[in-house]
Order: sequence, then structure tokens, then C-alpha cells
Amino acid sequence: MPDYPYALSSKLPRTGVTIFSVMSQLAAAHGAINLSQGYPEFDVPEHLKTLVSAAIRDGHNQYAPMQGLPELRKAVAQLREWSTKASYDADEEVVITAGATQALFTAILALVREDDEVVLFTPAYDCYAPAIELAGGKPIYVKLKHPHYPIDWTEVRKVVNRKTRMMIINTPHNPTGAVLSSDDLRELEHICEGSDLILLSDEVYEHMVFDGLKHQSPASNQSLAMRTLVVGSFGKTFHATGWKTGYIVGPAQLMNEFRKVHQYNVFAVNTPVQRALAQYIEEAPEHITQLNAFYQQKRDRFIQAIQNSRFEHVKSPGTYFQLLCYKAISKEEDVVFSKRLIAEIGVASIPVSVFYHQPEHHHVLRFCFAKDDATLDEAGMRLAAL
Ligand code: PMP
Repeated sequence: MPDYPYALSSKLPRTGVTIFSVMSQLAAAHGAINLSQGYPEFDVPEHLKTLVSAAIRDGHNQYAPMQGLPELRKAVAQLREWSTKASYDADEEVVITAGATQALFTAILALVREDDEVVLFTPAYDCYAPAIELAGGKPIYVKLKHPHYPIDWTEVRKVVNRKTRMMIINTPHNPTGAVLSSDDLRELEHICEGSDLILLSDEVYEHMVFDGLKHQSPASNQSLAMRTLVVGSFGKTFHATGWKTGYIVGPAQLMNEFRKVHQYNVFAVNTPVQRALAQYIEEAPEHITQLNAFYQQKRDRFIQAIQNSRFEHVKSPGTYFQLLCYKAISKEEDVVFSKRLIAEIGVASIPVSVFYHQPEHHHVLRFCFAKDDATLDEAGMRLAAL
């Protein structure tokens, strides 16, 4: 194909190939254990696979309703009620999306206007800022403090003003694993009082919270719920990241704006997968209720495996990620060190500096522990040998 011959001014000039692709390619080239990208090594539950096959075989293969199959919307509303006590109308206040990414992108596009400010916390998952910029908004970054990464509400108060349209919360938090507490929700409540600020709450790891902690969604607080859109991911919850299905819930007025954009950039989401998920949630609710314990065991296994290493850690309270600090081993920057780990000991991770707007260097790497026990043991053994 000949080159496009005209000047092209990119809408996202700073965006290139993501570090996730770079690390996965490097891991494959070296045959390394890949704890970099966040997806499970284990498969989707057998019964769920059977339900998807059955849905395809039985002819559920045409467009679903725009907002999602009613039975799945109902299941989502019930799950949210169970987990956060917030109640949603399954017709007006729930939409099934093509993964959490699309839900986040569409919500930002639908609600952030030219020159609006959007507060987000760094390190941050990488899809928020580009969506804000494409919507004409301005990301305003507040730093989370290493090594526990709590939100500094004094800092938040300094940046919230009349132009603040939205704040993006992510609990449990990728990449740090940090979770919000009920005190955080009270702080948030005070900050939001009297403003029209919208909260976009990314809760894709809602069922991966450990050590008896309770998942704290802004939507579980009555005065925050009226301004909160919550995003979830079936990919994370059912070990099916490749299916790219998720949901968004929120007050009817906000969801009405969401649907206006959703109907033109997606319209409807994979019908047989939606049908199977609705059936599976009804038939095997224990999959969700046992997920916290399942992932806590994985986290503990990984931590046990690196116990005698020179890596330092704070136990991850949520998500399927564990941060490890290598400052006792090397003073190299994290991108350099993580590439060296792949080449020299065959373990791939993600350097945490890439989750910052302006890279910060705390000598910390992110490891995904959604892996088989044998993989975690082997990776831990290799890391402990350093
Ligand atoms: N938000 C966060 C914090 C994530 O970690 C991810 C997945 N890595 C997503 C959203 C996207 O989820 P999905 O695959 O359902 O689009």
C-alpha cells in the first residue's frame, strides 16, 4: 500500500504501542513466564462454555436489544443489590457493554464536554486519559502515595473546582491493588456536596477483595449513588477476558445520555455470550461468592513463593495484581529492570512507572497472580533466586 501522502495531525500524538504488548512479545520471544498482562491462565468454567455453545446452537445469534438482554440486565441489577445494596431499574439503569473499556469510553464521551476537567488518580489504568482527551476534556492528575497508595483527599480538594465535570475512581485499583474504605467514601461525599460532579467508578475487580475487607463502591453510599456510574467486567469475573463483555449501571438520567452514544458506537453486544452469562449467574452463583477466596489463595501462594527473596511488598488488598519493590536488588529504572528480568530469569512483569502521566520511579513492578499454582511457584522461585 502506498503511504498516505498528506500531513496527519494525530488526535492522540503521545500514544504508541502499549507496554503490555511490548512485554508480552518479549516474554514470548524469551519463553518467559508471563505475569505481565492481566488475564487468567485458567479457563472459563466448563458449564459456562457449554451454555455459550448451547446458545449458539439454539439460534441466539442475532442482535440483542440495544441495552442488553433483559435477563442479563436483571442479573446485574440483582448482583449490584447483593454486593453494594444499591438498587437499579434493569430497564432504565443498566446497559450491557463490550467490556468495561467500552463502558468507560462511552461514558466519558457522553458526559465530558470541551474544556471540562476530569480528576483521575495516578498510577492509573491506561484507557482513561485518552478517552478524556478525545472528548475535549482535560485530565487532572492526583498522585497516590507509594507504598500503600491511598487517596490523599487534601490533594483532591485542591484540584476540584467549578470546571470539574467528573472524577474517575478505580477500586480495587489497577495497578496497585489498593481499595477504598468507608472513610474514603465519606471524604468523597464531602467533596462532592453541592457540586454536579459525576463519579465514574471502575469496579472491574469488585469480586477480588481480600483479608475480610468489604468492597466499597461509591454507589453503596446513598448520596454518592445519585451521581455515580459503576462499570464492571464479566471478563474479569468469569475468567473470560477474551469475551469482552461488561456492564454499566447508574441513575436513569446519566444512563440515558450513556445510551445515546452507546447506540451509535456499539449498538448491541454479543448475544449468545449474554444469554449464557445470565443463565450461569443464576445456576452457579457460588462462582462469584467464592471468587474473593479463590484469588486470595493465589495471592498468598505468590507471596509465599517470594517470601525469602529480596523483593519487598505490601500485601495486595484487591485485584489479581501484586506489586513488588526491587530497590534492595537494583537501582535501575523499572522499564530497564523488568526487561532484564525477562531476559535473565524468564519472568515478565509490568513496570509501574508506565501507569503515570509523568513517569515516577519507585522501583516497583506489577505481577499478575491469576495463574496456575505451579506457574506461581516457578515464578516465585526464579524471583527468589535474585
Ligand atoms: N479497568 C481496569 C482497571 C482494568 O484493569 C481493565 C482490564 N485490564 C479494564 C478496565 C477493562 O476491562 P475489559 O476487558 O472488560 O474491557
